Amino acid sequence: MTALFDLDNPTPATRRDPSTPAWVIAFETRTGATATLAGGRAIPRPCSSCRAWTLTGYDAPLIADTATVDPYAATPLQEAAALILAVATYQLWGTPGRYHLTPRHLPGLRILGHHPPATHVTVVIAHTCRPPLATQPLPALRPSPRYDGPPPF
Ligand SMILES: [Zn+2]
Repeated sequence: MTALFDLDNPTPATRRDPSTPAWVIAFETRTGATATLAGGRAIPRPCSSCRAWTLTGYDAPLIADTATVDPYAATPLQEAAALILAVATYQLWGTPGRYHLTPRHLPGLRILGHHPPATHVTVVIAHTCRPPLATQPLPALRPSPRYDGPPPF
């Protein structure tokens, strides 16, 4: 009698949880990044090398790169120091828990457009596993107030 299944040599277990959705497996296979960064939100994460806390997220909704920044706000002078040292700078948007990053200066790339000065927006500097250039804590921005009036339609 021939067995239909060879039960002595079970199929090796996959690394993934079987409940992982197919789109997450496809996303991670194509990009090589974990799906936790999907959506463009910058999340707090310790650096894998120096264990310092960083904010990590994609820097654009499309054709994005992973941005890892120190969670400190830079002054215009500190941003200029980052430019001289060829360290990327980003503008931080949003409120705690919903931060987003957009690039201001990427070494070797010319970014079109003008950026408001660092005195008007929150500028953060890429993490380099060295003492951070910027030292001011991130501003505790409040979420925008809700609209409590009648519906605008
Ligand atoms: Zn580091």
